[in-house]
Amino acid sequence: MANLVDIPNEILEAIKNELSYASLLALRTTCSSFFRHDRVNLPDRQYTIHDLLEIETWSKYHPARDRPLGSQQPSADDYFACSLCLKIKNSDNFSDNMMKGSKGKFANGASVTKHTRFCIACGIDRARYGPGTKFFYGGGKRFHGLVCSVCHKFEGVKVEDTRHRVELGNRNSTSKCSSC
Ligand SMILES: [Zn+2]
Ligand SMILES: [Zn+2]
Repeated sequence: MANLVDIPNEILEAIKNELSYASLLALRTTCSSFFRHDRVNLPDRQYTIHDLLEIETWSKYHPARDRPLGSQQPSADDYFACSLCLKIKNSDNFSDNMMKGSKGKFANGASVTKHTRFCIACGIDRARYGPGTKFFYGGGKRFHGLVCSVCHKFEGVKVEDTRHRVELGNRNSTSKCSSC
């Protein structure tokens, strides 16, 4: 039976010329002979957020695709790319707003802004989320987060926890964490 590793080099070269960074990575990791013998290498450049935005749609990082319609909110096994740390992290690391609409995985058209998406840690590090900021995160309002206006630390709670939902979910409620 014909085997992928037996593919003639000229044909492999022709295929590689058509592939994106993400697809080259996928092909390289498909078969040990491709990376051990350097038959498939990554482009000679640093990867970008655009490469990660392609990778985050792979089924491994996007199990929501296989869930029934209506239950496709991101869950802990769905992964998203951050444009600031250039990492792919699970949905617990992103505000709900960073994972939907124009920042959603499959957003397309002129108004797309997913290439500017950032994770909660980067948002706090780079002062995009200032003291007192509150938001839902993790997808489907699973968690509520707060950047404490006093100690500037991030505190997150499960929204199921009603006590916190009242305290943190209310715009007029305190913007202090539970320790301050
Ligand atoms: Zn980040
Ligand atoms: Zn605090």
